[in-house]
Amino acid sequence: MTFKKLSEYFEELEKTSSRLKITEILANLFKEAEEDEIGKICYLSLGRLLPQYEGLEFQMAEKMLVRAVAKAFGIEDQAVQKQYKKEGDLGVVAEELKARGYKGAQVQSLFGEPKKQILSVGEVYKRLMEIAKEKGEGSVDRKITKMAALLTEIEALAVRFVVRIPLGKLRLGFSEMTLLDGLSWMGKGDKSLRPELEGAFNVVADIGKIAETFKKSGEKGIKEIKVTLGVPILSALAQRLPTVEEMVEKMGEVVVEPKYDGTRLQVHFGRSIGGVRVFTRNLENVTHMFPEIVEAVKKEVKAEEIIFDSEGVGVDPKTGGYLPFQETIKRKRKYGIEDKAKEIPLKCYLFDVLYKDGKSLISEPLRKRREILEKAIEHKANTLVLSPQIITSDPEEIRAFHQEQIERGLEGAMIKKADSAYEPGRRGFTWVKFKQEETKKGGGLADTLDCVIMGTYRGKGKRAGFGVGAFLVGVKKDDVFVTVSKIGTGLSDEQWREVYKRTENKALKTEEKPEEYSVDKNLYPDTWVKPEIVVEIQADNITESPIHTAGLALRFPRLVRFRDDKTQNQATTLRETEKLFELQK
Ligand code: AMP
Repeated sequence: MTFKKLSEYFEELEKTSSRLKITEILANLFKEAEEDEIGKICYLSLGRLLPQYEGLEFQMAEKMLVRAVAKAFGIEDQAVQKQYKKEGDLGVVAEELKARGYKGAQVQSLFGEPKKQILSVGEVYKRLMEIAKEKGEGSVDRKITKMAALLTEIEALAVRFVVRIPLGKLRLGFSEMTLLDGLSWMGKGDKSLRPELEGAFNVVADIGKIAETFKKSGEKGIKEIKVTLGVPILSALAQRLPTVEEMVEKMGEVVVEPKYDGTRLQVHFGRSIGGVRVFTRNLENVTHMFPEIVEAVKKEVKAEEIIFDSEGVGVDPKTGGYLPFQETIKRKRKYGIEDKAKEIPLKCYLFDVLYKDGKSLISEPLRKRREILEKAIEHKANTLVLSPQIITSDPEEIRAFHQEQIERGLEGAMIKKADSAYEPGRRGFTWVKFKQEETKKGGGLADTLDCVIMGTYRGKGKRAGFGVGAFLVGVKKDDVFVTVSKIGTGLSDEQWREVYKRTENKALKTEEKPEEYSVDKNLYPDTWVKPEIVVEIQADNITESPIHTAGLALRFPRLVRFRDDKTQNQATTLRETEKLFELQK
């Protein structure tokens, strides 16, 4: 396929807001794509060149792209910058320059006459890859020159999208899940294959690979998708149940473990992937942030290849005690890694093994996986620590274990069905989190909610000084956000300042309600905020609500903390909120 054709598809997708229509357009695009292009098209449509977990960044700041555009079309940097400021979209600015026939003398003299050929998707992809991979001394100039050359060789419409990709501003408005719908539509003319495709994606979270496999070998190929060392598996997630008795009733014999309050880490190790890779629950590759884990895995793992699931928790280097989540999360950083690692060393509490020496273990029962895990690490209890556990079906024993964890300053316990398989990406009833028992709380909620900030309201009086007086939060209902609370009290001064700082960064520069937000007119905020900030909210209870579009509202909400480890995809869903509402009855 030519890149020009792909750009026409992108333009159509950009203009469309109906989910169903987007799915159909994607299906047509996928039909037209060749087997070796479809994966690249998936990454490009998400504004990337590789799956996110590969961590390939363009390393091209806005200024560099302005220079590349200026060079490509033979005008001054300042003129491009000025136009960009006015237009707000460098892709459109560059497209217009190209359409109006601007030509960069500089670039032409450097590269000769632009080639007359029409570039294919594969060729543009290759060139973008080269630009992204330029590193080291002089790479800034090489990136700019190569980008400018590419811009001179592609059509105006293509220029729009190629400029937006390194800026991280492609914004076609869909995620991997919509791409999976598009694949299903290509195969069956409806969304009926989505569960199967999603199941495969949960095991191998590489959308390009899923698309390519499906295009080449159809459903059969998808069924054969297997755990792959180096490619993250979507984390199994936990449900909630109101009482211990119900947990035992539903799950029978259970494994009970402490619920650590840190950050989920999936660790892959093996020579074929060049050592150790560490992924978060959001599929981010964070290997370089945790050098002590990398070292410990190399020394303490007794296997050629392994994938294990764990929780990383910061410890106080003096006392060895657990540090709160807010401290642990400081380890997620780009700079000053070594210093922070000394200040907040991490312990990795291992609770599952998903693959060992060429064999996927996700279908094995938890009990057996645990046996394998115990044999696979040296028990030095330094950085890699096997999570303690008991196996029981006695509610009182579970309560006692849970109480012990609370007294040790942990969040509670995780209760897992002893004979269950690992369920990638699923919030099933094989894992249940047990923070606080309903009956003991006097009407409180069984769990906190992870909500998304949708907008902010200006404050009056003292709050005006913070820049924000209240904020609107919501939960996800499929692809739409519905509101559950307008929070205006219960925050410390510091938290208000933090809300302002974070929301200001993510403010949308338009008064128009975003398409994916469903909000009652009476609740329209002063500023709409991109759905990228997840906050953990505690509430006394949930009531039915005529104005909140969830149909439910939180009573006496309080901000517990910012969940920087979660994206909107890990936020609480409407279905879960409804369950919490049911649970309190
Ligand atoms: P939540 O984020 O409240 O839904 O709780 C699930 C999270 O608890 C997981 O994603 C893990 O990060 C964390 N966790 C802590 N201890 C454990 C454990 N023993 N087993 C599984 N997950 C755990």
